[in-house]
Amino acid sequence: MKRSRSTKPTKAVKRCDLLSSPANAGKACIVHEIVDRHRRAAPLVACEQWRLFFETGEFDPTADSRIVKMPAGPARDRRTTEITVIKRTVGSAARAQMLRRQVVGQLRSWMSNCVNEFRDIVETSNLDERTRHMLHAVNVRQAWHMLGDVTFGTAKEVVPNEIRRLARRVLKAVMAQHRKPSWTCLSVQLDQREVRLSPTRNATQNGSVTHWLEIVAAGVGKACVPLIGTPPFLVRKGPRANTVQISRSREGRLSFGVVTDVTDACAASRAAYRPKMETLALDFGLTRMFATDLGDLIGRKFLKRLISIDATIQGIARHAQRAGTKLRDCSRYRKHVARMRGFVSTEVNRVFNRIVETHAPSHLLLERLDFSNPALSRRMNRLVQNCGRSSLAAKLVDLVEKFGIASEEVDPAYTSQRCSSCGHVHPSNRNGDHFQCRRCGLTLHADVNAARNIRQRRSLPALDEALLRPGSNVRPLRGRRRTLEVLRQDFERRHPEEHRLRRWSGCRSRGCGPAAYSLHEPLRFAWDEVRRAA
Ligand SMILES: [Zn+2]
Repeated sequence: MKRSRSTKPTKAVKRCDLLSSPANAGKACIVHEIVDRHRRAAPLVACEQWRLFFETGEFDPTADSRIVKMPAGPARDRRTTEITVIKRTVGSAARAQMLRRQVVGQLRSWMSNCVNEFRDIVETSNLDERTRHMLHAVNVRQAWHMLGDVTFGTAKEVVPNEIRRLARRVLKAVMAQHRKPSWTCLSVQLDQREVRLSPTRNATQNGSVTHWLEIVAAGVGKACVPLIGTPPFLVRKGPRANTVQISRSREGRLSFGVVTDVTDACAASRAAYRPKMETLALDFGLTRMFATDLGDLIGRKFLKRLISIDATIQGIARHAQRAGTKLRDCSRYRKHVARMRGFVSTEVNRVFNRIVETHAPSHLLLERLDFSNPALSRRMNRLVQNCGRSSLAAKLVDLVEKFGIASEEVDPAYTSQRCSSCGHVHPSNRNGDHFQCRRCGLTLHADVNAARNIRQRRSLPALDEALLRPGSNVRPLRGRRRTLEVLRQDFERRHPEEHRLRRWSGCRSRGCGPAAYSLHEPLRFAWDEVRRAA
């Protein structure tokens, strides 16, 4: 039921700042050439890595150094040619090495998504327990194409070949469903072999330039690129990394990512943080971004602003469609989407900063966040969903690193329908923003009630299977039905006198079925009477 997001800060904490550069055309030309070569070589490296993956079962970032161990023969000759072509395309051995590491990183992260999907497919399949166990063992080691034996269980049994074949077929189906990583927007990482970052001494171009980046790129040329430090970058305390990441937008704008190691600064701020309360539960919604269980509603204008951005973006999209241009080639569209992303991430940051400032919790409880809303268009829903989740995940990591505030995700099922006072669940307890319990009459803002439910969800007792009604335990309960059963049992423990009302008697309200527990019908009549009397 509970899933901990992250409880401990990672060892090294790093922050990357994107700096712009007023470089002249000559210098910019050299940087563009480096980026172009990198992007030309990336598909070659990816091709090499995919081949290694299907031949040996894994990606290999050190593929170029392994070649000396290979026996002489056509295979080694083919590998040598492959490596030479990559090196020649990219311009130097150092950059080819960096590129290989970068490509392998992206491929591994793409594969890890496939691992998750593979797991879900196997878990929901009707295969027998033992086959599923073996498939999971292959999947978790990512050993679909690996050459040696794969063992499973405590007895270390070997997974037979037909199961390995089945695993490869499942993987193939999973991989076919997703687009492989694209390399057209790849950024370039250069390490200390080719770049050096230093603060400016005298040539500051009227004070705007704060750093100089010396690039000595073998096979391309040398350039000393001026960088403009942003205020957050300049105040960041800690050693700067020797690696610089160069990215280029579709418009051809260059930006330079400089990484600062802020481990010590974060340790100091964690030590200085004094929590005022133990746990704060948050209910998330687009209308009001967060409601806390203490009753505050934060980020009230979020949806309104998104709707107005949505109208603009939809207008641009319609216009582009009439003119027959592709959206991704439309610079106005990209500009507005970038602005929207900026807005969402700023808003997420602002709201969390405010929560930390006012309540200073040591622990956050959240539900799994859904950034979709029927008031937004399908396109906008997709855009907001993507950028909302990533900025939220980044902010939660930041909170752990900076203040040691851990966060935990709880199951959100029925948090909006359950009364946080008596525990009664019914779909019509909630009406828009208004929550009124049909049983005890508790009246609250619906989001605040949900936040209180989220807090209580942590301390709910586990499901007692023995208490299930006969006939309903034929299949083990999963998902929302399981949660509902837990809530029902909890309710009955707290209100044993209402047992007699339990039989389901054909309540026809929305969302209520035989699986839902059945305090509804008699209460509905009671409620109707109350309404008639009012
Ligand atoms: Zn109630």
